[in-house]
Amino acid sequence: MLPKRTLMGPGPSDVYPEVLAAMSRPTIGHLDPAFVEFMDELNQLLRYAFQTQNTVTMPISAPGSAGMECCFVNLLEPGEKVVIASNGVFGGRMLENARRCGANPVVVEFEWGTPVDPGKVEDALKANPDAVALAFVHSETSTGVRSDAEALCKLAQQNDCLSIVDAVTTLGGIELKVDDWGIDAIYSGTQKCLSVPPGLSPVSFNDAAMDKVKSRSTPSQSWFLDLDLLTGYWGPGAKRAYHHTAPINSLYALDEGLRLLKKEGLENAWNRHAANHVKLREGLEAMGLEFYVDAEYRLPQLNAVKVPEGVDEAAVRSFLLNEFNLEIGAGLGPLAGKIWRIGLMGASSSEKHVELCLHGLKAALA
Ligand SMILES: *Cc1c(COP(=O)(O)O)cnc(C)c1O
Repeated sequence: MLPKRTLMGPGPSDVYPEVLAAMSRPTIGHLDPAFVEFMDELNQLLRYAFQTQNTVTMPISAPGSAGMECCFVNLLEPGEKVVIASNGVFGGRMLENARRCGANPVVVEFEWGTPVDPGKVEDALKANPDAVALAFVHSETSTGVRSDAEALCKLAQQNDCLSIVDAVTTLGGIELKVDDWGIDAIYSGTQKCLSVPPGLSPVSFNDAAMDKVKSRSTPSQSWFLDLDLLTGYWGPGAKRAYHHTAPINSLYALDEGLRLLKKEGLENAWNRHAANHVKLREGLEAMGLEFYVDAEYRLPQLNAVKVPEGVDEAAVRSFLLNEFNLEIGAGLGPLAGKIWRIGLMGASSSEKHVELCLHGLKAALA
C-alpha cells in the first residue's frame, strides 16, 4: 500500500478526486468516433485555459518536458539561431534541447532568484538579428520567479522572432493570455496548477509557428513529436490517422481537470492562488521565515523560502513527510540546502493546505 500524502512541493500537486474518478471511465478506442468527438471538446477546453483561438492546441502524450522538446524540435532546424533567456533549471533544459536539435543557441543568463530582464534580452536580439526564436520560462519553478511574458513576447515580435514560452507551472495558477500577449508557441503540464496526474503536456501553436513548421527544409528529428504527424491525429480536419495510441484514460483526467477549472473560472483560480499565497506568506513571516525572491516577482503557486541558519533542511522535509504525510520541495542546483519550495498549486492551493503546512513547519522547527 502506498501512503496518502498531501502534496505541497513543485509538482505533482494533490489531484482532485473527480479527476481520479474520471480516469476509471471505460477505455475506448483511440479512433472511436465518440473518442474523436471527446478529443475536439478537450482541445476546446484547452483553448479556454490558454486563452487562445489557435487551431493547433492539444495535449502531447508525455510530461511537460516533452512539450518543451516538441517546441524545439519542430521550430528549429539545424544551424538556426535561438536566443534563450535562462534564470533557472528549466532555462538550462531549454539550452540542452536547442543543442540536441543542432541549433545555434545564444544564452542570456540571469541570476537564479531573479526574473528575466527584458532590456538584456532586447540587447541580445539586436545583436543577433538572424535569431529565429526567443525562448524563456514564464514561471521558473526552480526558484519561484515570474518573468514578464507579455513584454518578452512583444520583443520577439518586434525583432522578427517566434516566441517559445514555458508555461508548465503557469497554466491555471497565474494570468496567462496566449493570444493577447502574442505568444507563438507554448507548452504546459498537467501536474502543477491543473491538479491532474503527470504524463501529459498541453501545447499550442499559432499560425506563424505552424508556417515555420510547414516551411522546414528538413523533417523534425523526432518522429514522435513531429507536429505534422501529430496534427494528422489530433486535427484540425475530420479525418484522423493513427499516429500513436493516445493515453485514453489520462486524457479523461485532463478533460475533467479542465472542466473543474472552467467551472471555477480562470480568473477566480488565479485569485485563489494569489490569496492563499498571501496567507502562507503572513504565516511564514510571523514565524520569522523569509522569502528568497523579491515580492514583486514571486509566484503565488511556488514559494521559495530561505532555510534558517543552523537548520538541517532535509531533516525538516523528512519530519513533515513522516509526521504529517506532507511533501514540500527542496532547492535545486545552487539553491540545494538553501531553500524549501512550497507549492500552492491547483487543489493544493487552499486554506487547509496553508494551515497544515504552517502547523507542520512550526512543529518541525521546534
Ligand atoms: C515541471 C516543469 C517542467 C517539466 O515538466 P515535467 O512534467 O516534469 O516533464 C518544465 N518546466 C517547468 C517550468 C516546470 O515547472
